[in-house]
Amino acid sequence: NGEATDSGGETYVVATDNNFVPFEFVDQETDELTGFDVELMRAIAEEAGFNVEFEQIEFSGLISGVSTGRYDIGIAGITINDERKEKVDFSDPYYDSGLTVAVLEGNEEIQSVEDLAGKTVGTRTGSTSQEYLAEELPDANVEAYPEITTAYQSLLTNKIDAVLYDLPNVQYYSKTEGGGKILAVGDRLTGESYGMVFEKGSELTEQVNTALQTLKDNGTYDEIHAKWFGE
Ligand code: GLN
Repeated sequence: NGEATDSGGETYVVATDNNFVPFEFVDQETDELTGFDVELMRAIAEEAGFNVEFEQIEFSGLISGVSTGRYDIGIAGITINDERKEKVDFSDPYYDSGLTVAVLEGNEEIQSVEDLAGKTVGTRTGSTSQEYLAEELPDANVEAYPEITTAYQSLLTNKIDAVLYDLPNVQYYSKTEGGGKILAVGDRLTGESYGMVFEKGSELTEQVNTALQTLKDNGTYDEIHAKWFGE
């Protein structure tokens, strides 16, 4: 069914999200889980000689699911930070990202994060942007949704004023389902790097890091990157 690889070795359960384009999402036409993270994870498994079986779970349950050993690996554009490092081990960073404000095209009132006071801002439950809003923008009204696409749909139908989320996700959504109607505005608010997560002390961390480095050195990482983000 395309969800598992067969490299002849152990099979590990990989927890992922299915609502974070273009990193992990379900392709409408094929009905299959796909995206940059999914392809990178499969390539890592092949390189390291193990098999992966993906489980699509809610983003807010990912860290705890991995920290308790329910899943062997987690990959979902997960931002590496100190709070999460208390619960799980992270791989080396594999993608540089950060947060942005997004509004409907033509919105002249909101041009940067400074304009969000008193506005209703959508985000996702359990994300770094929900935390950013709570800490940095106490004057904004926050609407946190389990799926970030619900936030974008609320923006498109004028139920909320803005969305605060990861820049590559905003840009890809805008180009695809968003039909170009959603724009990222202002400066990138944070620098964040994504990493895969493992139960504390897991031997998989080292194996994954070694395989990731090989894929960076041999051009496979660049190929997968170019496919999803262009050159
Ligand atoms: N990078 C963000 C975080 O780690 C969002 C990831 C996601 O929605 N899958 O919180």
